[in-house]
Amino acid sequence: MLPVDLKLLINGRWTDGTAGHREPVINPADEEVIGELPFASDADIDEALAASLDGFRVWRATPAIQRQAVMEKAAILMAERKETIARILTMEMGKALAESRAEVDFVIGVTRWYGEEGKRAYGRLIPPRAPGVRQIVHKEPVGPVCAFVAWNFPGTNFIRKVAGALGAGCSIVIKPSEETPGTAIAIAQCFQDAGLPDGVLNLVFGIPSAVSERILQSPIPRKLSFTGSVPVGKHLQKLAADTLKRTTMELGGHAPVIVCDDADLDRALDTMVPFKYRNAGQVCISPTRFIVQDGLHDRFVDGFVQRANAIQVGNGLEDGVQMGPLIAARRQAVMESFVEDATRRGAKLLSGGERIGNRGYFFAPTVLADVPHDAEIMREEPFGPVAPIVRFGDLDEAIGIANSVTVGLASYAFTADPKRAARLSAELNAGMVGINNPGVSTPETPFGGVDESGYGSEGGIEGLEAFLRTKFVSETYI
Ligand code: NAD
Repeated sequence: MLPVDLKLLINGRWTDGTAGHREPVINPADEEVIGELPFASDADIDEALAASLDGFRVWRATPAIQRQAVMEKAAILMAERKETIARILTMEMGKALAESRAEVDFVIGVTRWYGEEGKRAYGRLIPPRAPGVRQIVHKEPVGPVCAFVAWNFPGTNFIRKVAGALGAGCSIVIKPSEETPGTAIAIAQCFQDAGLPDGVLNLVFGIPSAVSERILQSPIPRKLSFTGSVPVGKHLQKLAADTLKRTTMELGGHAPVIVCDDADLDRALDTMVPFKYRNAGQVCISPTRFIVQDGLHDRFVDGFVQRANAIQVGNGLEDGVQMGPLIAARRQAVMESFVEDATRRGAKLLSGGERIGNRGYFFAPTVLADVPHDAEIMREEPFGPVAPIVRFGDLDEAIGIANSVTVGLASYAFTADPKRAARLSAELNAGMVGINNPGVSTPETPFGGVDESGYGSEGGIEGLEAFLRTKFVSETYI
């Protein structure tokens, strides 16, 4: 069983709620039930919303330096509880324990970044048009926030909303994924133990569409922040329109990796193959379309297959395991359908392509080469351990393929030529570009997409800005 009590957090109180309904939480590595999660009733959700309004009044009036002290204390508690939180994360989500530990470190980093940055929510003075006038721009917290986040990074997705809101002086009602509730609960406990006032952080669970509808129809939250799929993001944005909430949408991607024939082959493979199979490919910035120049193509494919075959797949809690299961059986079926569609259209299956074992939601690291451009996997984000590789002749062609989808989250390219690097960073249609480098996600840098990948940034000064609103004051003082 998960080493954490699964409860709702409403107005500073851990509770089972009033619905009298619980749903099992499943370990995707062995399909065992590892907890029973209480679902919130409408009355519980309404109580959480009301609490967030009271919590907002208290927290916005708390000086930023004191807010930072609470957040720093929470970060220290997370560091002390790192091993337990990482184990919860692996048990409910499946990723390898080393990845879970790294995720907890990231959660701590994000908490500290926003705590500190909240002290720098500066306004400005604008020179007046007449003497005796002061024109002041204030940055204020936007109000109570609501957020819904997906299961693939139960710590990171959660903390980007929570720490951003708290750093800016907002309260929050958040619904983490019902598939991975324990990580969020364990992190929320750190904030409670650090002295966060009641009502500032509220956690609810339930049927996702029902909970989000109830919350979004309320006028209390003034901001919605969502991490998840494109269709759900569009749906939530429409619901948020009725009360004109501001929105941040962190949706899916389909990241191209352009490998030019002047690239350092080993560097490209040594960074991108582990990155592709990290979290079994269930990463919104995962490299998902490998576009490789003719001169390097065959050696790239050979090196890719060799490395993919060496990946140790298993229960993420076991030593040496590098890749765990998918979150649920539905995702295995999606992987099978991608492979079947691509091979039917002429792609070569060079590795994997099937489920592993008959217990747990495992799918083998898979490599597809010579994938036709009309294959589904070239248009739809795989969100799993399937890597399609295609070849290109000149850079125009590569950029054309890279930019041929409706999403634009991350893009990557490998080249030793600074002119090509400059062109690629200018022309790739994405919110983040990594050149010879996969590192596009840190607490202090803006993270977010363009087009159907959504808008708004998390992280960096832009991340704090997303939870602030602007007030202009014009004052005559003589
Ligand atoms: P999904 O869209 O059904 O669910 C994704 C998340 O959104 C889940 O955590 C779910 O609880 C939540 N959700 C779903 N409907 C909701 C609603 N009406 N209101 C509020 N929350 C809601 O998809 P899935 O099968 O779990 O995952 C597969 C797809 O989701 C992938 O194709 C991928 O593109 C996308 N995804 C993206 C991210 C990301 O980080 N951008 C994360 C997870 C999943």
